[in-house]
Amino acid sequence: MLKYLREDIKTLKSYEVNQEEFRVKLDANEGIEWMDGKNRYPDDSCTILKERLANKLGKKTSELLIGNGSSELIELVMKAYLEYGEIVVSISPTFSMYKLYTIINKGVYEEYPLKDMQKLDVEGFMEFVKLKKPKIIILSNPNNPTGSIISRENILRIVEDCDCMVILDEAYIEFADVEIQDYTREYKNLVVLRTFSKAYALAGIRLGYMIGNEEIIEYINRVRSPYNINTITQNLGLEALDNEVEIMKNISLIKIERERVFKKLKDLGFKPFPSQANFIFFKGKETLSYDLARKKILIRAFSGELKGYYRISIGRPEENDLALKAIEEALNETGHN
Ligand code: PMP
Repeated sequence: MLKYLREDIKTLKSYEVNQEEFRVKLDANEGIEWMDGKNRYPDDSCTILKERLANKLGKKTSELLIGNGSSELIELVMKAYLEYGEIVVSISPTFSMYKLYTIINKGVYEEYPLKDMQKLDVEGFMEFVKLKKPKIIILSNPNNPTGSIISRENILRIVEDCDCMVILDEAYIEFADVEIQDYTREYKNLVVLRTFSKAYALAGIRLGYMIGNEEIIEYINRVRSPYNINTITQNLGLEALDNEVEIMKNISLIKIERERVFKKLKDLGFKPFPSQANFIFFKGKETLSYDLARKKILIRAFSGELKGYYRISIGRPEENDLALKAIEEALNETGHN
């Protein structure tokens, strides 16, 4: 997929890190050790973490790129592929950082509205893409904030028929009732992003990864800052991969709680949208988040065209109980309007 790559990246070589064995290492201006080997720069290629992930995913390490959160990886694709003024297409509503990253990287952001905030009309989307001629399409699947999912069939249709790079952001995929599978070997213009921030509940360590065709991964690696993943994060990522059982338990709990919160919101007279992620999107009265904030309960409120829409994350059962109780109280105090 050299054809989509930014002209000036086509000849760029990535920063070379010396990984030779040593007796004495005085080549990187590091300080003298006083805290457990942390005077050394981290492993730039995240060798062990990549091997473990590759193993888990049935991939080669050359098909993976590790990011400081998946956020960094979104931006790296833009850095590698987007020329000044080129178009990035997404759906709306979706993760607001897509637009910000596009603008920061001197692109133009165009969005195609979901039908009833849920469904992607794929025919209409393809028409939109034909018209806008994007360099990059980015899709959050499941979608933040709606919780909706695009079918595998529609995703593959988009990847196959659109003449551009496609970023499939699967930040919430572990919460979805779908088979987790990527098609990056079949489609060179597809990159899939995952993160340790949601299902692995490690947003604090900033760790994400990209799956892509080896050639694409090599191009995107050219625009990555050296040592982007610190040593502590690499180690904690490995620890998380050793505790998959614990993580699966949490995912199951969240799915159960998601149904419970959904039902309660419905019983309270809201219109929650079905969700395949660890949050629920719903419509409420415009003052709801203020009423809750006064009770020190935080949910995400949207503005602009989404004024009156809310997104509540699914937490521990007792946190969900407190939030639902506060929502019910807010309704009893002031009603739905
Ligand atoms: N993609 C989506 C759809 C998200 O909702 C988020 C976080 N809110 C991210 C990416 C970024 O996650 P990370 O912590 O991996 O940077």
